Amino acid sequence: MTATRSLLNPDLIPTYVREVADTLVAAGFRAVLVGGCVRDMLRGEVPADYDIASSALPGDVANIFRKTVPTGISHGTITVIHRGRALEVTTFRSEGAYLDGRHPSEVTFHGELQADLARRDFTVNAIAFDLADGIVDPFGGIRDLQEKRIRCVGSASERFAEDGLRPLRAVRFATTLAFELDPLVMDAIPASLSVFRKVAMERIRSEFEKILLSPSAREGMGLLKESGLLGSFFPEVVEADWSGLDRLPKSLAPRLAMTLLGIANPAPICARLTFPKAVADSVCALVRHSGPPTHASSDADLRRYLSQIEPAIEDALALAEARGLLGPYGRMREIAAERPPLTVAALAITGQDVMNALAIPPSSQVGATLRKLLEEVLEDPSRNTRGELLRTLARWKEEERVSL
Ligand code: ATP
Ligand code: MG
Repeated sequence: MTATRSLLNPDLIPTYVREVADTLVAAGFRAVLVGGCVRDMLRGEVPADYDIASSALPGDVANIFRKTVPTGISHGTITVIHRGRALEVTTFRSEGAYLDGRHPSEVTFHGELQADLARRDFTVNAIAFDLADGIVDPFGGIRDLQEKRIRCVGSASERFAEDGLRPLRAVRFATTLAFELDPLVMDAIPASLSVFRKVAMERIRSEFEKILLSPSAREGMGLLKESGLLGSFFPEVVEADWSGLDRLPKSLAPRLAMTLLGIANPAPICARLTFPKAVADSVCALVRHSGPPTHASSDADLRRYLSQIEPAIEDALALAEARGLLGPYGRMREIAAERPPLTVAALAITGQDVMNALAIPPSSQVGATLRKLLEEVLEDPSRNTRGELLRTLARWKEEERVSL
């Protein structure tokens, strides 16, 4: 076991994290930083959050700190609120045999850091930082960080058989960290697919989202396909063209939509993958109107197109741009920036005005009339004044009377 201080500058650790660790140590327990935060600090990045692993049991932690939240007591996790910040403290544990490829049959709290690191998935995630003693790296995680490699703690096939999510996490970390998958990891994936298929879709979706939102999403999709994982949970897109993925903003709907272009109805697929309804709705709109109209020539045509894809205009333009389709329609962005009225709600009159002007009760005719007015306004936005629209309504009423 190596123990060095020099690799990681302890000044990087925020005060609230240091104080929680120091308090646990002062109470006679061991407390170390572990997992993603150590990995990210060693890479010179500021971690999104910090995790502490400790010999203290959740009950001990609850007794020591004034404010705690029992977030996952059965897994040994309790959240400490300190200086207004939340910090997870998890008891050193190891896991019994995995009988179903998803959950350990038992969790043992044994007070040992080494065994806690041994149950973690990848060497780069199995490094601890002890504020007093420095780095604890029993599995060569630092070397793998330096060589930019995702390697399992122990045998890849055994670790993947325990928890079917791990192969996907391997691809996720290779993608988000821009690391290589160790050949042993890649080779172990095909045989683990039957276990992967048992994993809850929410857990799969959460990892997949991180791949999609990564700057190397395109490469990540390639790894997913090559490893057979994509075919297992998202077979509809295995042959899709996602080459423009990295050019899209880091937003879920347009990125997901790019993989689903050409699918007639993505809604049930999004639901199966447990994406929230708001994401699914945007994806469907983006896929349905997946490119500027090829016949588009006039500004009015472009406004009509923008009106169809509202409220996903920015995403739709980004999608068109990433696919190299926007070039001939450069005016589309300028027109969108002018913020012309594109929806019935943006009209200068309301449904009540329509009912008054036409002397009709509430009915579907009101909505239909508003949409007809919108068509006029899309043709020429300067017509969107109350006076002009009321005059148009009066003219329509007159024409109807004459035609009767
Ligand atoms: P991120 O920055 O994306 O949150 P992370 O390393 O913190 O990365 P988490 O999913 O938050 O990733 O997990 C925290 C730590 O818990 C990991 O670093 C790893 O040590 C361990 N871990 C998480 N999931 C598993 C798993 N399925 N099998 C083994 N260890 C895991
Ligand atoms: Mg994390």
